[in-house]
Amino acid sequence: MMIVVMQAKATAKQIGEVIRKIEELGFKPHLSKGEEKTIIGVVGNERKIEPTVFTVLSGVEAVIPILKPYKLASREFKSEDTLVSVNGIKIGAAEIIVMAGPCAVESKEQVLKAAQAVKKSGAKILRGGAFKPRTSPYSFQGLGQKGLEILKAAKEKTGLSIVTEVLEPADVNLVSQYADILQIGARNMQNFALLEEVGKINKPVLLKRGMMSTVEELLLSAEYVLSNGNYNVILCERGIRTFEKYTRNTLDISAVALIKRLSHLPVIVDPSHATGDRNLIKPMSKAAIAGGADGLLIEVHPCPEEALCDGYQSLNPEGFEDLMQEVRKIALAVGRKM
Ligand code: PEP
Ligand code: MN
Repeated sequence: MMIVVMQAKATAKQIGEVIRKIEELGFKPHLSKGEEKTIIGVVGNERKIEPTVFTVLSGVEAVIPILKPYKLASREFKSEDTLVSVNGIKIGAAEIIVMAGPCAVESKEQVLKAAQAVKKSGAKILRGGAFKPRTSPYSFQGLGQKGLEILKAAKEKTGLSIVTEVLEPADVNLVSQYADILQIGARNMQNFALLEEVGKINKPVLLKRGMMSTVEELLLSAEYVLSNGNYNVILCERGIRTFEKYTRNTLDISAVALIKRLSHLPVIVDPSHATGDRNLIKPMSKAAIAGGADGLLIEVHPCPEEALCDGYQSLNPEGFEDLMQEVRKIALAVGRKM
């Protein structure tokens, strides 16, 4: 893959000529309009193309190969940060965006209580699983479409946008009728059929790092979504498996700063699944924001003791309010808004 960098004064016609040439050669053009220059990614298989087929076209400034295995997700392709817009909320900009709510949608009352509480404390997006990926087939599997209806009702009541998980390609259409952001969970990070399906719609996608995946594999999974035409991808560090047993996973804070350097995509942190321990949520949230994360994904339940799923790592509304107050101080200290 290579990128064709257009001259700052290149015309729409010249850009069109380059796009036509890319398509004629059997590749897919990916346009990125920067503040000064337009860049066109030439994406296809490993087949070689001579850079001169583009350098001879008028308006072309340079043709540069991208050497990283992920292309459209790389900073080489796009140097400016990507901002993902969700109903006027911008993820990846100066403001820290917090998504919060229960692990699973259990009832209308539970979701409404959680939604009102997280909204009051400053969350902008409500989370909650309707389709749950459970390790055991005997665990609560979620309410399915009924859960989506409950999320919709909470959105109407509070104005919060919704993020919820989609487990399989056949459900992408259904879930996207309710969700503002489609979540791909850790267990599905390399479900390539699912990644391709969410790549074909234009709803934002929250892609969580697999529990045994490298940063490069995460970025290659993002590439599946981007290369199918959906550029609205938010990455999420949610901890990886290590030999440590006192925490559910090990939060890889270095991944946040690393991804910000390697990629233009926004990155958020989920300290709830990363630690599995409600007492660790506050310190890890502070560390995440200090380390450059663009937002947080936090499990909050109106009554964690009664939760059907992940209660031990869920904050109650008071705990969440305290978290927001403390994280705000860090956000302001590192030049972000909250
Ligand atoms: C979740 O956020 O609901 C979830 C199941 O997390 P993960 O996919 O990171 O385990
Ligand atoms: Mn959970």
